[in-house]
Amino acid sequence: MITSQTGGLGLLGHPAGHSKSPEMMNAALQMMDAPYVYLAFDVTPAVLKQAVEGLKALKFKGWNVTIPHKTSIMEYLDGVAESAREIGAVNTVVYQDGKWTGHNTDGTGYLRSLKEETSLDLSKQRVVILGAGGAARAVGYALATAGVPKVTIANRTLDKADRLAEHLSRWTSTEAIAISDCQDEVREADLVVNTTSVGMFPRINETPIPADWLHHGQIVSDLVYNPRETALLQAAKLKGAQIHCGLGMLVYQAATALELWLDKPVPIQLMKQVLEASLSGNKK
Ligand code: NAP
Repeated sequence: MITSQTGGLGLLGHPAGHSKSPEMMNAALQMMDAPYVYLAFDVTPAVLKQAVEGLKALKFKGWNVTIPHKTSIMEYLDGVAESAREIGAVNTVVYQDGKWTGHNTDGTGYLRSLKEETSLDLSKQRVVILGAGGAARAVGYALATAGVPKVTIANRTLDKADRLAEHLSRWTSTEAIAISDCQDEVREADLVVNTTSVGMFPRINETPIPADWLHHGQIVSDLVYNPRETALLQAAKLKGAQIHCGLGMLVYQAATALELWLDKPVPIQLMKQVLEASLSGNKK
């Protein structure tokens, strides 16, 4: 029940109307008996400063940030945590000890989901990341800080892959290299992660690499969560590979944000169920 004691949490993005976060977060808040409500705000870049000032004045506990504000939000905060600084993007703002700090929970969310679903020993894995955009930076950061010895970044635009590989090698002990043609590396990889948007609804029949490159004994992970099982994951399954879908990352990045704000256990299963129901409702 909303009362005069109910506090605010939310999401700033443009657009924001497609977001499934309010359903997932409010279900979790209710289950946690936490006196907060989570709202999505469609905020254009032109009014980001005023929106942030408003949330601060209204004593919001924190908020999520999505496209296109993940970098520009930094100038309105008191500090940026290491994860967000190295990834170059903030997706969660937390108010603590009188300060507004930017965090990035995408990398942690990916890792938590991967560990839960695959129980992989990352210290021994050869990894290929397909793509070199914002999601690749978060996944690369998470895998490198988790101790993966070698990461190959394969991207259609080679110089973006080069920049990410150089950054990863500089800040961690992970060997990171960039390539555009990744056939041999994919065949030899233990873990292949698609961070490109290829395969996303409505172009659901597309795959970022041919299925023939995949085989039994590999884990194939796809950040795309709509559809839940992409054409890449379906092909990987037919080849006998283990698959890991993007829905878990979406749930865990949200769960990690809730933990940062409220410092309480979060109902992960409920959040997953709400998200799955909401996404399947999309296709009707
Ligand atoms: P982004 O910064 O725009 O990067 C997109 C990447 O995809 C780039 O590397 C781009 O290559 C590549 N790409 C796009 N179209 C391609 C094509 N037709 N062929 C080959 N490569 C292509 O986007 P992002 O924020 O990283 O997001 C990427 C995907 O991850 C989206 O589908 C997003 O929904 C998903 N995602 C999921 C989660 C989750 O929680 N599960 C979280 C974040 C993102 P170029 O550099 O050559 O353009």
